[in-house]
Amino acid sequence: MTNLVEKVKLPVIYDAVCAEYHRAGHPERPQRVLSSYEKLRTQKEFEVEWLVPTLAQDETLLLAHSREHIERLRMATGDFDADTPAYARIDDHARLSAGAAVLALETALKNGTAFSMMRPPGHHATPNEAMGFCYLSNAAIAALLGRSKGFNQVALFDFDVHHGNGTEAVIKDCANIIFASTHQSPCYPGTGLQDSGTNCFNYPIPPQTPPAEYRKFITSAVNRLKSHNPDLLVVSAGFDAYKGDPIAQESLELLDFFWIGQMVKSFNIPTVHLLEGGYSDDLCHLIHAYFLGFLGCSEPTGIREN
Ligand SMILES: [Zn+2]
Repeated sequence: MTNLVEKVKLPVIYDAVCAEYHRAGHPERPQRVLSSYEKLRTQKEFEVEWLVPTLAQDETLLLAHSREHIERLRMATGDFDADTPAYARIDDHARLSAGAAVLALETALKNGTAFSMMRPPGHHATPNEAMGFCYLSNAAIAALLGRSKGFNQVALFDFDVHHGNGTEAVIKDCANIIFASTHQSPCYPGTGLQDSGTNCFNYPIPPQTPPAEYRKFITSAVNRLKSHNPDLLVVSAGFDAYKGDPIAQESLELLDFFWIGQMVKSFNIPTVHLLEGGYSDDLCHLIHAYFLGFLGCSEPTGIREN
């Protein structure tokens, strides 16, 4: 008899062109997305609908950034800082990643959810500054665009191990948007030590916090956001609180990311997921585990190749 059980489907926004820039030794490297693409393409637990993004236009970027910043990115010649090079065509790469966030939002409004698996990440980019591997504030752009579509309360949840300082700088004190970040402290960029403005809730977490303790911070952040009754969720999905991550010192394991996926699902509202950090070779497995949790699939049995 034919198995009529339909697999759940995840729309994923991806274009391999985002793997076409790199600098030797830089942790934000093409292999991050290439191996994640391969993992999602070959796994059997859920269906993936692949969608290709288009470049975000000035009008969209101006939601979050100054015209000066947009011009500087367009004309980029010298590196923005030691972590954030002026790669060839970085303006196009950053715009494509921002455009993917916009497409993820539009897709989530139709289908309930979508994941942008593009680089560069965005949550450190402030209105006027590219920093920390980030050039454009993708999550803030998605949230502001979501708000303009008539949502009453847009929640931004950032579980990357680094504070989402750029997102916070863009949306601080914005009406109808709330932001919560769980992050290692002390750690780059050194911000997010306490709540900020009327709508930014920060959960600094000491290095090497055991996973069971780390989960309590995430639970608190999620509950704080839920208490504001959001009707749209934008997630800055960073996977660098993993025990094997080379640039941070936290201890989360594969199953913790599965659990985070379940926590995000528990909002039960349209949800946009945007890839931020995650620099270990296991990133592809962590992303997969997170979506197994989010989509209500069985938990992963461990890190294994397909
Ligand atoms: Zn990070």
